[in-house]
Amino acid sequence: MSPERRLTGEVASTGLAIGPLLRLAEAGDDAGPAGDPATERDRLDAAMDAARSGLAALAEAADAMGAEILEFQLAMLDDPALTETILPAIAEGALATAAWRTALEALVAEYAAAEDDYFRARSADMADLRDRVLGHLAGAAAEVEAADGAILLARDLGPSRFLGFDWRRLGGAVLEAGSRTSHVAMLARARGVPLLTGVGPVAAGGGEAVLDAVDGLLVLDPAAATRAAYAARREGADAAAAAAGEALAKPAVLRSGERVRTQVNVDDPAALDDALLLASDGVGLMRTEFLFLGRDRLPDEAAQLAAYADLLRRAAGRPVTVRTLDVGGDKPLPGVSLPQESNPFLGLRGIRLCLERPDLFRPQVRALLRAAPLGPLKVMLPMVAVPDELLEARALFAAELADLEARGVAAAMPALGIMVEVPAAAIAIERFEDAAFFSIGTNDLVQYTLAASRDSGGRVGRLADPLDPAVLRLIAGVVACGRASGREVGVCGDMASDPQGVTALLDLGVRSLSVAPAALGRVKAAVQGHG
Ligand code: PEP
Ligand code: MG
Repeated sequence: MSPERRLTGEVASTGLAIGPLLRLAEAGDDAGPAGDPATERDRLDAAMDAARSGLAALAEAADAMGAEILEFQLAMLDDPALTETILPAIAEGALATAAWRTALEALVAEYAAAEDDYFRARSADMADLRDRVLGHLAGAAAEVEAADGAILLARDLGPSRFLGFDWRRLGGAVLEAGSRTSHVAMLARARGVPLLTGVGPVAAGGGEAVLDAVDGLLVLDPAAATRAAYAARREGADAAAAAAGEALAKPAVLRSGERVRTQVNVDDPAALDDALLLASDGVGLMRTEFLFLGRDRLPDEAAQLAAYADLLRRAAGRPVTVRTLDVGGDKPLPGVSLPQESNPFLGLRGIRLCLERPDLFRPQVRALLRAAPLGPLKVMLPMVAVPDELLEARALFAAELADLEARGVAAAMPALGIMVEVPAAAIAIERFEDAAFFSIGTNDLVQYTLAASRDSGGRVGRLADPLDPAVLRLIAGVVACGRASGREVGVCGDMASDPQGVTALLDLGVRSLSVAPAALGRVKAAVQGHG
């Protein structure tokens, strides 16, 4: 028996799996002699048609996120520009396979080199399309039959290929290349499929493996003791997942009988599972950056209104709390030049940028005012440090409301609250008399309180501890102010998604949590088990 080997990778979607490692075949070339140009052209047309119907069937079966990703490939297939260089090459005697590969590889490289994140992310989708059509050209056999619990191994995996597997039967996947920001990683996270990326070349496939997508390890040919230890860990994790599943269906009530509001954070509505939304008490934080980033132009008022209205509709009467745009400094906006700052996290970001640039902010304000009559909408401002920022924003909301009303457009003033994520706001919270509610953003509050960047590792990373007494004291002060003035105090930072953090927050008297959708079940379980 070969000795155990361990490879490290990046956790793209957490979970554990033990099972046979199955290497997926790469899309190959057929090296046979070229047929005459007409035959090669027919072969290409047939392969593109087969790809088109395969993608359409997958898109139909997929959820909103999967369908949106596949739509791009379908649109590419229908774009006449795609075959512009391929057809002449075939006419000159090239194999359909070679002509297709050359053209698609050029596109993959072009997308990969793009400045814009959105286009860079599409490079993997182009590679996916390249391989799907190559597969049909080679008369590819259907996807390999994977045994139940198998861990799939590939150099990289395109989203359409990922969506073609029945992941309820499989253990997870390991990619030699790939990254946690790819589309396939997003799909894996949304489905709870353990995924490890960037492990480098794996000289194996077929033997037994442990996929530890918690600590970022792939263990090949695990020793009996390793296997047993992971089996025990997985049993524990399965039991916790079962408890979370049960807790999800029940309201979050403390053992004392007190109800705790448990809401979800939404980064991208297309990735949100409606069942989770409906198992929650609403949306405690809708990050609106997805509307602005990775696009080739800024969203107008109508596009924003449509997004807010759609989430209100999906929430079916539950409150939806939209956070106004929180970018600046390190996150560029398409077509907007922002100042270069030496310390962007202390610079023109969040509400500071929005107040400085009403041309950016006004369409969002108007869209929110117009969405307010459609359901229980709440709005909160990020990065507020002093009361004047809230007053200035409120004045802008009031002015735009008056303008909309004068034009006879249906609109209303939503409840306007603030994120508490700058220590100054937490320390002097009683100054914010005009805030309708408070939502504590522990991610930023922790980094600013401890002067330790939220994404540092090592010694600095360890300092950024939400359970640090200084942070807990700030939270307690905000809770006390909320209680005394009858205003809701919620927590929407990652601390609220972690069972240990939940316990600390409940002990401090927090009774409203907004968490990552995937954490909703375990957070409810933690609440239900709390005295
Ligand atoms: C936070 O800072 O805790 C928060 C919820 O906002 P973001 O993570 O988007 O900065
Ligand atoms: Mg924040």
